[in-house]
Amino acid sequence: MSNSTDLSRISPQRPPRESDWPPFWKLVEAVAKLGPLRLAVLEKSRFARAIDTLGRPFSLGLTGFDAFTWAGTVYLAERMFGNRSGYLLLRHEAVHLTDQRRVGLVPFILSYLILLPFGVTSRALWEWRGYRETLRAYWERGSKLAGKRAGNVLREFAGKRYLFMWPFKGMVERWIGRELKRLDRTGGRAYPGMERLGEAFAKAPQSEKGKAALGPPTILD
Ligand SMILES: [Zn+2]
Repeated sequence: MSNSTDLSRISPQRPPRESDWPPFWKLVEAVAKLGPLRLAVLEKSRFARAIDTLGRPFSLGLTGFDAFTWAGTVYLAERMFGNRSGYLLLRHEAVHLTDQRRVGLVPFILSYLILLPFGVTSRALWEWRGYRETLRAYWERGSKLAGKRAGNVLREFAGKRYLFMWPFKGMVERWIGRELKRLDRTGGRAYPGMERLGEAFAKAPQSEKGKAALGPPTILD
């Protein structure tokens, strides 16, 4: 893997430090290379606030979000910009961005929202793709770390964060276990259909050049 130097610096005995993670802005560059990308500060976007207000009666106060992706824009909570949490979220949101481009925004949103507000919905399919990338991002910082964080993924995926979109914990646990084994076996290869994204991410920590040519991403605030 191209980031093997980074991994070798991480002792499995200690949790990774902020500096062990590839810089957030390098990832922004890598994602922007795959297509137009806008980043918006979630709290400052009128659109994001409207979505939040609309969703509140359905969510019964159970959920709250730090990021979402809509039509080429990733809305990210202000505190996520430039740090490890933002890096992780952006890895996940980049999958939604790619999927929305691939299937089209309207089919994506319709299938994402089917059977809202509660219970089993097809958004679990989209979210599982995003969470596979979340797991892969952890795995790149150490297989042990990925194993430790798997519990959070399980809780989020099967729990209230997504209004119990796929509440079958045993099943999700098996998916996660299989995914972690696949990552170990393949050296962290991106899963089928996401190879291009995987390649872009792998280059992100090293990519210094191209910054000037690319120009800064649009920040809406
Ligand atoms: Zn997601």
